[in-house]
Amino acid sequence: MTNISIYAEIREIKKYALDHKVPIMVDEGIDFLTTFMIKNQIQTVLEIGSAIGYSAIMMALSNPNVKITTIERDRERYLEAVKNIKKMGLEEQITLIFSDALETTVEGTFDMIFIDAAKGQNIRFFEKFESNLNEHGVIITDNIDFHGLVEKNIEEIESRNLRGLIRKIREYIDYLKNNPKYDVEFLKIGDGIAVARKK
Ligand code: SAH
Ligand code: MG
Repeated sequence: MTNISIYAEIREIKKYALDHKVPIMVDEGIDFLTTFMIKNQIQTVLEIGSAIGYSAIMMALSNPNVKITTIERDRERYLEAVKNIKKMGLEEQITLIFSDALETTVEGTFDMIFIDAAKGQNIRFFEKFESNLNEHGVIITDNIDFHGLVEKNIEEIESRNLRGLIRKIREYIDYLKNNPKYDVEFLKIGDGIAVARKK
């Protein structure tokens, strides 16, 4: 693929996400993630929440030696991800799993785990997949600020569901802060990113 057609395809994928309200990672988050991977020589990634494959594609493009395994439970998004990865010719680098991550076991260990799925389930994803993490590996979680709502006074949030979700994200933040096995940083990048490095 030429650089021009790669850019054109990415633009198409982003447009699809916008049109179909698929919450893909914001540019600032993607820049951080790919730079982090290069700096930390990340070679293998397990992603929870592929959606249409956008973040996996961006990670794969940042380094041709990177291998990504990514899990998606929504059929329509999974099929769109399959299509996008094929179009970009990244089948060798990206393995897609169509399943609920909480009902799947993944073989092998990874340098990095990227959690970007149901925001109320972060503790469960973390605990389920940390056994797939290499020594001194990193678990990165997206949407820790949830559009700024995590810092808001909870009574100001009108929707009950949303309040529940924000409480869950706060619980996850406390869980990470109090986890003695990891060094944790919270970054005000994109929609908020947590970086937990295994000691
Ligand atoms: N990482 C993607 C965006 C993911 S959006 C990107 O930045 O391009 C979150 C996705 O997680 C949604 O598509 C949703 O269907 C999926 N998801 C939520 N809970 C899940 C679960 N338990 N198992 C697998 N996928 C899940
Ligand atoms: Mg996200």
